[in-house]
Amino acid sequence: MMGPQHALSGAAVWLAGSWALEQFADYHQSPLALAVGTAVCAGGALFPDLDMSGKVTKNQGGATVARTFGVFSLFAAEVMEKISLGVYYATKLSRDPRRNNGHRTLTHTLPFTVLVGWGTTALCAAYGKWAVITILFFMFGLALRGLFDEWAERAGWVIITLASAGAAWFTFANLPGGRGYPLIGTALGVGCFVHILGDMITRAGVPILWPIPIKRRMWMMIGLPNKIALRVGSKAEVVGMRIALTVISALATLGLIAPSVLSRFDIEI
Ligand SMILES: [Zn+2]
Repeated sequence: MMGPQHALSGAAVWLAGSWALEQFADYHQSPLALAVGTAVCAGGALFPDLDMSGKVTKNQGGATVARTFGVFSLFAAEVMEKISLGVYYATKLSRDPRRNNGHRTLTHTLPFTVLVGWGTTALCAAYGKWAVITILFFMFGLALRGLFDEWAERAGWVIITLASAGAAWFTFANLPGGRGYPLIGTALGVGCFVHILGDMITRAGVPILWPIPIKRRMWMMIGLPNKIALRVGSKAEVVGMRIALTVISALATLGLIAPSVLSRFDIEI
């Protein structure tokens, strides 16, 4: 699945989930908390592809997300890819093939998803304000890059960096103190999970079962059979998925906003 669809699926899942929680569990979120959760989930849905490095020294290549903050994120992607490859070799069994690139390994597993969600929550709890603002800054950057890909391409990484910093600061200044911390970790973890699911339906291959060994393989790639899997970049993926995900997001947003608008209307009458 390509970047924009990943980001959009993160946003759609978060909005639909929030709607369901409000409907069936009576769990309300403020509009700001909702917007932050959606942005973080959209950004988180791009996060696993930060294992796709390019050429840092030449400032080339890499996944679109790896270029969000220019050469800095390209460098981070390089580190992530090497760590992933290291973990691959450290845990590989006899029937796992040799690889020379760590893409679609460690960052596309469930333990990584849980670690990211838990780690984010722990960081926010331990370092408070500065951890929150830093994480929001990175996630907003990824979300902008993914959701507004054409604009982001034209604007370039400096503008994206400035916009993310501004949004992070605004959010921090307006988000009520105690709340919002567990929300950020959850949204990021859910985003990573949605990414993995997205990769599973578009082409054969994410090591979703790692670290469970199967037939002397630790890194069994699992996905839909090629016949029914969506082809990456195909029309069905790009247009179909975008429309479907946008409709889901819009309906959920409407469902979340409509009751409060209606009740306000009633009060005025
Ligand atoms: Zn991926």
